[in-house]
Amino acid sequence: MDLSKKPIVSIAKNEEISSAVNNCLDQLEIPDLTGKSILLKPNVGREEDPKLGINTNPEVVEAVFEYLKEKYNANFWIGDSPIINTDTRKAFEQSGFSDLLKSEGIKFLDLDDPAPLELDIPQGKILKKIKVTGYWNDFDYIISIPVLKMHMHTGASLSFKNMKGLIYKRNKIKLHHFHSPELIENLKKTMEKVKELDIAIADLSHIFKPDLCVIDASYALEGMGPSSGTCVKLDTIIASTNYLAADIIALAISQPNWSLKDVPHLKLISELLPQSPKSLEDITTTPEKIQQFIKPLEPPPTSITIKYKNVNLIDVESCSACLSTIFNLLKHNKDFIDEHFTPEKPLNLAIGRGIKQSDLYSDTYLIGNCTYEHHKHGIFIKGCTPVESTILKIIKENLK
Ligand code: SF4
Repeated sequence: MDLSKKPIVSIAKNEEISSAVNNCLDQLEIPDLTGKSILLKPNVGREEDPKLGINTNPEVVEAVFEYLKEKYNANFWIGDSPIINTDTRKAFEQSGFSDLLKSEGIKFLDLDDPAPLELDIPQGKILKKIKVTGYWNDFDYIISIPVLKMHMHTGASLSFKNMKGLIYKRNKIKLHHFHSPELIENLKKTMEKVKELDIAIADLSHIFKPDLCVIDASYALEGMGPSSGTCVKLDTIIASTNYLAADIIALAISQPNWSLKDVPHLKLISELLPQSPKSLEDITTTPEKIQQFIKPLEPPPTSITIKYKNVNLIDVESCSACLSTIFNLLKHNKDFIDEHFTPEKPLNLAIGRGIKQSDLYSDTYLIGNCTYEHHKHGIFIKGCTPVESTILKIIKENLK
């Protein structure tokens, strides 16, 4: 890489999170945004409470907005498209964004409101076209504001993966449905963890190019992300106009023993462009030394079969929607489950398109259309994803 063109990543730690955001943004060369239409794109994928490390902390988004509003007379928008069966406005409100949505000078957008646009990706390895938000042509400048979190399916979820929210409604699921054994076999020679999902996410980099990234590590999520991990307060902000550089630094402080191969979609993106950063050495950080920010987080579990005392969850290549639904089902109905299921006679659940018949017990609930192939070998619950209440109803109906 040409050393004179190293991307800059700024990093700051401060309990006063707006100070950390301001400090980071002061170090970057942001173009004149006067008169521009700017999308602030936090990660608000779920109806969850604030400061759990699941959705972006609204204080971070507010600080970015206030910083830019002070400098530029521009049109500011804030929006997202959450996971299936989630109301966008309710997700923002529950996540603590109500005050910001009422602020003067910023307008809320449900990115799923207008009819979508279909974009071609001729260079994509497996993803050749995708439907994106109908607002696609309305933005001059996109700011990705993800929360730093571990992710069971992709290693970590950072600035680039946050761009998945620009995909229209359930078209996000399309990324989970590819099957390219030859391509995978070839890539696995150098990238053991790679899956079709990683390739599809990397293909999006041909069309999704966030202009500025502000990674929220005020509260990060370790372990079983994207929604069931443990929240860790880090009070840290990472920012860059180069999304790959920002994501590399986020990994350097949260998983110092990882390389990009542990987050295969980032490794694939780094290989697409010869000038893109590939490691810490290709990036200028400010401050120069980042040791003080390092806080190793628990990585996501490598096992895809999760055992609770009285629940067996078999997850093979599900997507976040089914996984989140199951975790919510378990969280919201613990008393019911404890009353009716024991370690000797557990509740058996299976999700994901990679389930094999040999994974299943005789009384397994096969949840979601991905498991239909095995519907004769368990109790099939249709939907993509089935809603929590339907799953619970069918479990109750099948109690003996
Ligand atoms: S059935 Fe579940 S795992 Fe399969 S695509 Fe739909 S939401 Fe994802």
